[in-house]
Amino acid sequence: MRAPLVDRFGRVADDLRVSLTDRCNFRCTYCMPAEGLAWLPRSDLLTYEEIERLVGVFLDLGVRTVRLTGGEPLLRRGVEALVSMLAARGVPDLSMTTNGLLLAEKAEALAAAGLRRINVSVDSLLRHRFAEMTRRDALERVLDGLRAAERAGLAPIKLNCVVVRGTNEDEVVDFARFARATGYQVRFIEFMPLDAEEGWSRDRVVPSEEVLAAIGRVYPLVPVDHGPEPARVFCFADGAPGGVGVIASVSEPFCGDCNRIRITADGQFRTCLFALEETDLRRLLRAGADDDQIAGAVREAVARKWAGHRINEADFVRPARSMSMIGG
Ligand code: SF4
Repeated sequence: MRAPLVDRFGRVADDLRVSLTDRCNFRCTYCMPAEGLAWLPRSDLLTYEEIERLVGVFLDLGVRTVRLTGGEPLLRRGVEALVSMLAARGVPDLSMTTNGLLLAEKAEALAAAGLRRINVSVDSLLRHRFAEMTRRDALERVLDGLRAAERAGLAPIKLNCVVVRGTNEDEVVDFARFARATGYQVRFIEFMPLDAEEGWSRDRVVPSEEVLAAIGRVYPLVPVDHGPEPARVFCFADGAPGGVGVIASVSEPFCGDCNRIRITADGQFRTCLFALEETDLRRLLRAGADDDQIAGAVREAVARKWAGHRINEADFVRPARSMSMIGG
């Protein structure tokens, strides 16, 4: 076992997000244009063997959680095989973030392969608005996917809802009601400046305090200890099942105890979602580097990790990649 990855602020990086593809079968309006983006050539994508090897190195560096993301990870052919390769490597906490469109048919195989838990992106419970926000009339299929995930024993099930002012903030109480009815945890994510069309503006951000206040007026909430994960989590004061969470990246940044690091689908290592620099692990892999060399490059990058994003600073610079090119 190697020494853990500690940055110059004393934060330990032990939560690895691995993007499997930049492609997606949704066209969410706060993420990408209707026509999609220029997708990465398949030869640029890390192979499953390369991902497994890299994850092996990161486990040896103290990583405990591995989250598979995208674009849309379920678009990657034979993803169940990768899940079982990573489970066989002994990843303590293996999870995935998906838009749920393909979940109904894949949930059982994913669980059988070793996936533990799942986050599903759902931005509206209204069929027409869901279709407007994702440019896909797919709410029913996603809800079917959630039920299939539940039957397959993936737990806990968390929903990620990006709240955009003037679009879906009027649904936060309905989502809380949905959490109580299903036992799921619904996390409300502040809109971040990572959309490909650069349409983000501060006035489209709904601060998390506003979301919590709206829900709390109807369903009083009690904070729950949430550890280093980005969401502040709450349960219902009346003991109802389920819960809600907020990810207040813009209004209340939580970079001070960030434990997250990322690998993009084309093998670039990022120490922050908003990082302006990357480390090319794919080049190292394909140049025949050994695990020590890869671990060394990762440790160097983490040592250089900045204090946090600069969204609220005058000198904020958007990263060259948009969200779907990085992974949640
Ligand atoms: S913005 Fe970067 S440093 Fe801040 S919490 Fe997110 S990944 Fe961590």
